[in-house]
Amino acid sequence: MPIEHSEAIVIRTIDFSETSLVLTLFTREFGKVRGIAKGARQLKNSFDSALDLLTRISVSFIRKNSDALDLLTEAKLISRFQLGTSGIPGLYAGYYLAELLQMTLEDGEAMPELYDLTVETLHRLEEGQNVEESLYRFPWILMRLLGERLSTDRCVACGRKIDYGKESHLGRRVGLSLLDGGAVCAECRRTRGFRQLALVDPHAMEWLNRLDETTPPSLPDQKNVRREIRGVTDWMVDAKCGRIPKTRNQAYEALDDAPQT
Ligand SMILES: [Zn+2]
Repeated sequence: MPIEHSEAIVIRTIDFSETSLVLTLFTREFGKVRGIAKGARQLKNSFDSALDLLTRISVSFIRKNSDALDLLTEAKLISRFQLGTSGIPGLYAGYYLAELLQMTLEDGEAMPELYDLTVETLHRLEEGQNVEESLYRFPWILMRLLGERLSTDRCVACGRKIDYGKESHLGRRVGLSLLDGGAVCAECRRTRGFRQLALVDPHAMEWLNRLDETTPPSLPDQKNVRREIRGVTDWMVDAKCGRIPKTRNQAYEALDDAPQT
């Protein structure tokens, strides 16, 4: 079996026996890889003491067939994200990102764009800047890259462009259906039946709609709008994952308890 090499981020680590670790890595070249690092818990090891959650490493491993764990042979530390230094919210947000990746990625499916987004987001969390924005933006783009894109600019039923400014001016909320794949205009809401339709503040929808832009918009100031962005994001994530990620509430609590800057 050939030895593979890749850059990777550690997204899960479990103690295995006295001396070894079982790891889930998000590699840039091969997507999610699960492997065993024998001897990693011993003082002298081939892993540069780099196998902690959310470290960025350069790793070598031997692929195993079918369901067997890959065998990690070597790792070198590239960097540790200093997530705790600027406060608890950044740290817990990092844990949430790791869990999201761990839950949603398929083994062995390379997603370099997502990998780069992950590195970029972890850097932002490290700086403690825009933690809340990252908590919504990252899952949203993750879902899109996994093929779960919601239509937010056009009505999924009639294809008409939704004018969020006008909807807001009229004091109307915008329909959103996960089953149908996106926004539903007021007209279609009246005339057609939709199952599990949520009604969302137009400002929240507008913000989500702009997330694909190269320079993402800053979060709206209004707390209620942010809550709705959170609600829509969570709804999508839960539908994809089939359960609520364990670390999410902690991440939100840390954020909500932090002094507002
Ligand atoms: Zn419509």
